[in-house]
Amino acid sequence: MTESQSSSLVTEPLLWQQQEWKRLIERYQAGRLPHALLISGGEGIGKSHLAHALTAYLLCRTPSDTACGDCASCQLLAAGSHPDLAEISPESAGKQIRIEQIRALQSYVGKTAQQGGFRVVIMQPADAMNQNSANALLKNLEEPGENVLFVLLTHRISSVLPTIRSRCQQIALPVPQHDLAVQWLHDNLESHQALHTEKLLKMANGNPLMARQLASDSMHEQRDKLFLLMESLTRGAEPVELAPSFQEGDLQWTLRWMQQWLADWSSWCLLQQDSEVRFPEMMPLYRHWHKTASLDAARELYQRVGELRSQLASGGNPNIQLAIEALLINWSGKMLV
Ligand SMILES: [Zn+2]
Repeated sequence: MTESQSSSLVTEPLLWQQQEWKRLIERYQAGRLPHALLISGGEGIGKSHLAHALTAYLLCRTPSDTACGDCASCQLLAAGSHPDLAEISPESAGKQIRIEQIRALQSYVGKTAQQGGFRVVIMQPADAMNQNSANALLKNLEEPGENVLFVLLTHRISSVLPTIRSRCQQIALPVPQHDLAVQWLHDNLESHQALHTEKLLKMANGNPLMARQLASDSMHEQRDKLFLLMESLTRGAEPVELAPSFQEGDLQWTLRWMQQWLADWSSWCLLQQDSEVRFPEMMPLYRHWHKTASLDAARELYQRVGELRSQLASGGNPNIQLAIEALLINWSGKMLV
């Protein structure tokens, strides 16, 4: 089954996943691997990486500590055409996993593995199922075929329906140790990007894969632009005129940065220690807001931005332009008056 199978081979777990990896392999070798895993953890922590390394291991014909990377099965995975792996995701970002996608799985999990071993279903994000899709999946989870493993991934565990959660064995991946995250970024960034490792990790809440994504030139550019827009807004520019520019680039990231600045500003107001500020380049704006805004206002705004992020993530806000305009008007009213 090849529905949107990713075409690169992952065999090794990430640096900070060694413990979870060892436990999974031990469970497998003892014949105690459950038929459904629910892997949760922050965005950019490497959930999908772990799921794919495990899949490669289970499907590999000659695994040792990890999948071999060379056998016919590993080659099929590398080509993105392994018949015993199904990957299920929403058809476009922010949409839900449809019931038809789950139903299509039923015949797949009922069959015998074509390569004679496991069949794996990787589903992400697991929180993108509505009640109907979830009910259809529950049927599969209640009557699993032999040697079928479901791996569900989510960074919003509380949004996964409790009935699904209770059928899965849960693995909560912790934020990687700082030194491991730094080491990995040094190995995986260009040297000029690696100079900003600490700052990138702060922005990514300690999650290395997200930090790597943030290191790209386009993300830098977007953040620099957003800073200038926020500066204009703070100096009194008209929110409605700025709104179209706010929508350029990855809107989830724009909103996430706005939340990070509000949180950073609030803790600076409370502690009054410049050395504790996460984003020192924001200090001129923070000082300005300090004269005009209250902590309550920042908290309300933080929530409002969060609500908009959720709406966008679930495809639930048809008029983004209007939503951004309203948000910026609200921001001016709360932070700058
Ligand atoms: Zn192999």
